[in-house]
Amino acid sequence: MVIVMDKRATEEEVEAVERKLVSEGYRVHRSRGVERTILGIIGDTAKLDPRELELLPGVYEVVRVSEPFKLASRAFHPENTVITVGQVTIGANEVVVMAGPCAVESRDQVLETAHAVSEAGAKVLRGGAFKPRTSPYAFQGLGEEGLVYLREAADRYGLLVVTEVMDREQVPLVSQYADILQVGARNMQNYALLRELGGIRKPVLLKRGFAATVKELLMAAEYIMAGGNFEVILCERGIRTFEDSVRNTLDISAIPVVHSLSHLPIIVDPSHGTGRRDKVAPMARAAVAAGADGLLIEVHPRPEEAKSDGFQSLYPNQFASLMEELRIIAAAIGRKL
Ligand code: PEP
Ligand code: MN
Repeated sequence: MVIVMDKRATEEEVEAVERKLVSEGYRVHRSRGVERTILGIIGDTAKLDPRELELLPGVYEVVRVSEPFKLASRAFHPENTVITVGQVTIGANEVVVMAGPCAVESRDQVLETAHAVSEAGAKVLRGGAFKPRTSPYAFQGLGEEGLVYLREAADRYGLLVVTEVMDREQVPLVSQYADILQVGARNMQNYALLRELGGIRKPVLLKRGFAATVKELLMAAEYIMAGGNFEVILCERGIRTFEDSVRNTLDISAIPVVHSLSHLPIIVDPSHGTGRRDKVAPMARAAVAAGADGLLIEVHPRPEEAKSDGFQSLYPNQFASLMEELRIIAAAIGRKL
């Protein structure tokens, strides 16, 4: 972190800033330009809040030269993180597609969907057994029964399971059934849950909160990594903006932004990202073209009967043709799908 002093700052003001930093355990390197004094702070600046330093008399500007997320930052880990689960690698050359219903509704529904998505080339079965719903009266999921159905269907069709864990108390139970534990958008800043997931040895799919910046998403990943779990997959799922023609605004630019700031893989959820079935395929194609490491897509055998998010779920045949298109796009940018 660098402190740029005001042109009119007095020697006393410069020394006061230096003293404060030294008293907090930092070393300070002073350099005198033609017009201004610049103080370079040496030490673990992740703990410093630039806004507090900016209020000190004589300070013009505080500039972070390294990000407050260390473990998630590419500066500290230049190589891409590649996460291997069973036969699947996420974050390498392959674009990994995770697909399935919004919610697990019945054994038959999950088996039927798993069969269809695996035939089309998906590698991971998604589906919520614990559902975070806006209304407390809406379907809340089947709970453990849903986890059993997911595991059975995934094993039968050679898929992995990704499913949401809503609460820190649920972590041991969900870990028994899931290969990848999902943190939903509403829980991105549930720090107790993130810390709990830092203590397990299974990959975590961390969804971006709908009012969170990319840096806040990376700080949330940092919580999991600070606990010792480095297998974090980020997920762009749309953010809330003033635009109301779609459910959320899918931030495609988050893909290259994450790739330059971080070594963690990033996948895209065009289903929640748009909230409309007819918008899912165009945004899925865009995400792969922009370099996403994977996709999370809602598919339901009969979307009109779905207990949640039927309007944004693809029919199995739509999913299969989308996969064909995605293969062409992936090949065009030198990736496999
Ligand atoms: C989901 O993927 O099941 C889900 C609830 O999405 P989000 O947390 O992004 O709203
Ligand atoms: Mn959903």
